[in-house]
Amino acid sequence: MAAFPRVSLVPHYAEIGTKGNNRSFFETHLERNIAEKLQPLGDFKVELLNQRILVHKEDDLVGWEDAIAVLKEVLGVAWLAKVVECRLDYQSIRDAALQELELMKKDSKPTSFRVTAKRSNKSYELSSQQLAVRLGEDMMKGSGLRVDLSHPQATLFVDILSDRALVHTAKDKGPGGLPVGVTGKVVHLLSGGIDSPVAAWLMMKRGCDLTYLHFFVAPSAEQILETKMASTLKTLSRFGIGGARLILVPFTDYQVATSDLRPDYEPVVFRHFMRIVAERFANRIGATAISTGDNLGQVASQTLYNLACIDAGSSMPTLRPVVGYDKSEIVELAQAIGTYEDSIADYKDCCSIVSRHPRTRMNVENVLEVSRRYDFPALAEKVLSQSAVMKLDSHTRQIRVEPLETAPRIKNA
Ligand code: ATP
Ligand code: MG
Repeated sequence: MAAFPRVSLVPHYAEIGTKGNNRSFFETHLERNIAEKLQPLGDFKVELLNQRILVHKEDDLVGWEDAIAVLKEVLGVAWLAKVVECRLDYQSIRDAALQELELMKKDSKPTSFRVTAKRSNKSYELSSQQLAVRLGEDMMKGSGLRVDLSHPQATLFVDILSDRALVHTAKDKGPGGLPVGVTGKVVHLLSGGIDSPVAAWLMMKRGCDLTYLHFFVAPSAEQILETKMASTLKTLSRFGIGGARLILVPFTDYQVATSDLRPDYEPVVFRHFMRIVAERFANRIGATAISTGDNLGQVASQTLYNLACIDAGSSMPTLRPVVGYDKSEIVELAQAIGTYEDSIADYKDCCSIVSRHPRTRMNVENVLEVSRRYDFPALAEKVLSQSAVMKLDSHTRQIRVEPLETAPRIKNA
């Protein structure tokens, strides 16, 4: 049994959607993801107790500040509190509460407060209400603050668990969402633009474990290491789990094979081809959806007709999470998650080579006919066989490029 009182962190998830059987699945993922993110910082121990995640520091050399900064970014964390863990007897709780309130008084000089008590230990001697009232009276005497239940300037939270109480006054907001890994694997089409890194973050926020796929024009995949694609991968890896993988697909063979294609077909047909390659790769790794940074109406090619053409013949969903966002909102999110600066840096992307004058209303039959004419399924296999992978190691944070192993196919790719 640990020596109480002691300080810990409690990263908390949103309760909605985590009832019943899926709760422990969700908690285990969040606990594991938190442990992975804290591992490079030092010796932290993550414990799951009474549906709370507790983060203990095993080593006084490491500070809380770095851990708090990391945990505030972990997807699935709705809020985060630095708590005092104390024994369950009333005296211990009162001492911890008074101390926390004194700290808060120094910080923000409140004049009023309230106590919010919660018990997951229903056999505790006082009900939540009784505990809140008794503590409220004692705090009022001890601190000189007045109680205000409806508009308090400070709140003292007390959480009664099976073998300890948690006391805290402040909560930091986390990103919310779901822990990465709970909803499944997705192949994400990553470009050098602003939108697709933001779309990736939004997909991860819905619990998706992403493998990125990028079409490049440079003469060799190794050269991509020197570009913003590597730094974007690094930034995005802060949110994912188990390192990060970017599949690097060469553009040249596609360009040569389709050199006689009508220029006004190019933008949509190329996106249709990228979608085919992504789906074939998704089947290889057991991913069940594709995601992109496509918007609607942002540029001329992004019409509902054209999106239908891009997806034509597909057998898994294409998710486009930024479709509900204005460009300015996407830019704001890109700045918040840290991908913006890289996204606006110079880079020669494939879309700068394909024609910039798209048809706004392509026809599905025409796109499928083009796909048959150039035998896109065979061409997709060919470009995948020439692809490389950029890998970021979750422990060392080192990035390297290596040939893409021909992994066993999971479905009829
Ligand atoms: P972004 O800012 O994400 O590039 P965009 O508004 O510039 O988006 P497009 O260039 O039409 O729009 O790209 C639409 C989507 O197609 C991208 O969000 C991305 O998912 C995918 N895409 C575009 N270019 C590439 C590429 N070279 N490799 C992989 N996917 C790409
Ligand atoms: Mg783009």
